[in-house]
Amino acid sequence: MSKKANFETLAVHAGASPDPATGARITPIYQTTAYVFKDVDQAANRFALTDAGNIYGRITNPTQAVLEERIAALEGGSAALATASGHAAEFLTFHTLMEAGDNFIAARQLYGGSINQFVQSFKSFDWHVRFADVNNLPLFEKAIDSRTKAIFIESFANPGGIIVDIEAIAKIAHTHHIPLIVDNTMATPYLIRPIEYGADIVVHSLTKFLGGHGNSMGGIIVDGGQFDWKKNNKYKKITEPRSDYGDLVIADAADSSAFAIAARVLGMRDFGPTISPFNAFLILSGIETLPLRMQRHCDNANAVAHYLVNHEKVSWVSYAGLLDNKYHNLQKKYAPKGAGSVFTFGIKGGYDAAVRFVSSLKLFSLLANIGDTRSLVIHPASTTHRQLSDEQKIAAGAGSDVIRLSIGIENVDDIITDLEQALAQS
Ligand SMILES: *Cc1c(COP(=O)(O)O)cnc(C)c1O
Repeated sequence: MSKKANFETLAVHAGASPDPATGARITPIYQTTAYVFKDVDQAANRFALTDAGNIYGRITNPTQAVLEERIAALEGGSAALATASGHAAEFLTFHTLMEAGDNFIAARQLYGGSINQFVQSFKSFDWHVRFADVNNLPLFEKAIDSRTKAIFIESFANPGGIIVDIEAIAKIAHTHHIPLIVDNTMATPYLIRPIEYGADIVVHSLTKFLGGHGNSMGGIIVDGGQFDWKKNNKYKKITEPRSDYGDLVIADAADSSAFAIAARVLGMRDFGPTISPFNAFLILSGIETLPLRMQRHCDNANAVAHYLVNHEKVSWVSYAGLLDNKYHNLQKKYAPKGAGSVFTFGIKGGYDAAVRFVSSLKLFSLLANIGDTRSLVIHPASTTHRQLSDEQKIAAGAGSDVIRLSIGIENVDDIITDLEQALAQS
């Protein structure tokens, strides 16, 4: 298949061909932990990384490899490493870049789980996060010092409805010769391809829209292939001789996929958050319909946002697809096909009205996830953010009136009918 194929074609075909052993048209689930070596020389070469073949299921798997090649193609990257979850992808990304005492700059507007990982658990590695507000870009530059190793942002940012100026932040990163990492989970490469705007590394929770059916955990790291790791001596795991691989320098051996290789042969080798072949298979199946699903998600969400903004019981709607939204111009630039499916709105009557509303929905599922085919809802103040004080809730975008929706691919009239009857109960 030509490398120039369009997105919809890549979503179905990239990385896959009929199974050479059996002719099976669909990529099989290679449910194996290890691989037989032809002889001891082949085994030795594989361990020295001079032969790229399979050794052991923690490091590589053929089903996983198709998933990696497909998402690298969809994002326009050079290579990828699939992981057991989105959080595992974030952790291995930072492990590849950071040494003890280093710091990175992260957008303040992030998935809550990422904030926990950065603030609570990275401390144990002596890695330090500094937050900057995506509505005040000079703060990103101000926070950079000689120990800063990366900038981390989301393309569509949590809690929903925010669109980040990727190109402007990439410029800041590159002025200081540090990589920009973009968590592209909520947009997916169907809506935004961050590498085209200067991102050096893209990470995903495959658990959400890429898998798309709410049935499998997974994550991925995509190497943009453009960053010059050797330009300074900051990224030692990639540029210094590795005694564990016969003094090999990964940047020399792997060239444009050095980052993805380093994440695999160091971080994945030693920490081991491997994706299961079965989950890789389910996520691959999901990706085949990504363009169709994402377009429907966006079209439905757009209709729902327009319905809500005119409803007497709704005080505000934060959806970049609305003409008067402050992120609308960024949406037209970065995501002209749609503003995504996840957004928040405010319900009149505060906490009690919000609880009555979410309790009355019948089609929507009340749960802590996004990116399922099904429509999902959460009231952060009574669930995910319950333990915070009122001030902390407001600062986190989880005030008592805030409802977050992840609009599914059902018939939009049925979605709106359900919202209508629940608003009447609120
Ligand atoms: C869910 C999510 C993650 C974490 O992914 P898991 O697969 O749950 O580990 C990271 N970033 C964003 C934007 C997410 O929505």
